[in-house]
Amino acid sequence: MLFSEILVSQHLKDILINTVKNKRISHAQLFLGQQGTHSLGLAIAYCQYIACQNRTETDACGHCPSCVKFNNLTHPDLHFFFPNFSTEKIKQATSLDYYEDWRNILKSNRALISYQQWIDAISAGNKQPEINVRDSSLLLEQVMLKPYESEYKFFIIWLPEKMNTECANKLLKTLEEPDGKTLIILVSEDYEKVLGTIQSRTQLFKINRLPSEDFIKIVARHIDCDENIAEEIASLTDFNLQQALQMGVNIVNVDYFQKVCTMMRCAYRLVYHKTGKIDIDFDVTDKLIKELVAWGREKQKDFLHYSLNLIRKCILLSCNAEELVKSPQQESEWLHSFAPFVNATNGQYMVEVFTNAMNDIASNGNATIVFTDMFFQIGQIIRMGDPRLNK
Ligand SMILES: [Zn+2]
Repeated sequence: MLFSEILVSQHLKDILINTVKNKRISHAQLFLGQQGTHSLGLAIAYCQYIACQNRTETDACGHCPSCVKFNNLTHPDLHFFFPNFSTEKIKQATSLDYYEDWRNILKSNRALISYQQWIDAISAGNKQPEINVRDSSLLLEQVMLKPYESEYKFFIIWLPEKMNTECANKLLKTLEEPDGKTLIILVSEDYEKVLGTIQSRTQLFKINRLPSEDFIKIVARHIDCDENIAEEIASLTDFNLQQALQMGVNIVNVDYFQKVCTMMRCAYRLVYHKTGKIDIDFDVTDKLIKELVAWGREKQKDFLHYSLNLIRKCILLSCNAEELVKSPQQESEWLHSFAPFVNATNGQYMVEVFTNAMNDIASNGNATIVFTDMFFQIGQIIRMGDPRLNK
């Protein structure tokens, strides 16, 4: 990966580039960035820059033999360690057993990934993958070897907070005085959970989140949308870049907004059908539920989160707090027509329904049951708020 592809401030890249220019590369560094920052990508770009045979003042060249291997994540001197777990098939697992999955997820997400995404990618379910003592033995073996092609051997340990104590203890000596030209970068999201003994043996490099203006511009550019939509995505994801890009692509491509409109219409009709006052086309409802079920858990949670945000806007509108609601035109029209059905009283039930569904999905609930249940509950809540019934 090139520095130009990494979504962090130029200032941070300059600091790293200067360590190479001034030949002051610390052998053990801890890159600390909150969840959703591009820290892992930055670590890879830094290693690629060091190894590049034709680097410029600002970036790696991108086409020398070393860069080509880095682009494919197949450079023989680049080693990754990350949370993994043993199964019936993979006994005594190490990071090596999951290398193919690892390379795939990094390549398709520009190394901007979350722990949850990784868990889903390797179907870990309710297991808690960790970096274990077999990983540190492997790392120690590789540290002993001479580099194959580049001047340095690179070790990137993703989420050192997921190391168990035995694994961490085994690494301490190497972090203090590694053999030869070795660079070990630990990429962490949670400094408090990294063992003190590791903290004290590594040089800390903090990766701050992007300033809001830059963040919004990046989201708008990457998912090709207006800046006002990007701004909404930013606030919806609390300026978590990984989530914003993931959710943004779905908001735009899958058209979450239309899905929410259809969902509300179907839910409303489900309940009114019982009164015999309305004909219902069950196929539409059935199709929508099946579509939602077929999405992965991350996308389902994303969608529920997005829906919840629309409900909150409805509640604000029905409480005459219009100045707090920012929406694109089409959404604003829908919100105004739907707000009379979601008021201060039933709005809180609606929030509960969505929050419960999110929790159920997060804890591996059966998606068909969760969504079907949710549709009926939404229908009943809308009925509670229906101004025509409450005259
Ligand atoms: Zn190069």
